[in-house]
Amino acid sequence: MDKVSLGAIITDGGNSKKNKTGSWATKRAFIDQKKCIKCHTCVLFCPEDCINIKENGKDVEVDADYCKGCLVCVNECPVKAISVTIQS
Ligand code: SF4
Ligand code: SF4
Repeated sequence: MDKVSLGAIITDGGNSKKNKTGSWATKRAFIDQKKCIKCHTCVLFCPEDCINIKENGKDVEVDADYCKGCLVCVNECPVKAISVTIQS
């Protein structure tokens, strides 16, 4: 059993930061800063916790290393400031 790889098994809660989930994404979120009203709703809804609030406490950015392209944030943004980019 020791020789069997654990694969994609989640062994403990909140461990997604150990895996770069963005590496296999075919889509990714892109935030239009001109449309964004800095409400931070997307930060709360992102299941990967990969939308970060910048040091100024207002602007948000997507960490491409962890964005898996689920597009939850696109649906939740109240002003449609988030769009989808396709990864090649
Ligand atoms: S939910 Fe939309 S408007 Fe609110 S911070 Fe995120 S991108 Fe900006
Ligand atoms: S697409 Fe999904 S994983 Fe990527 S930033 Fe939006 S909610 Fe987070």
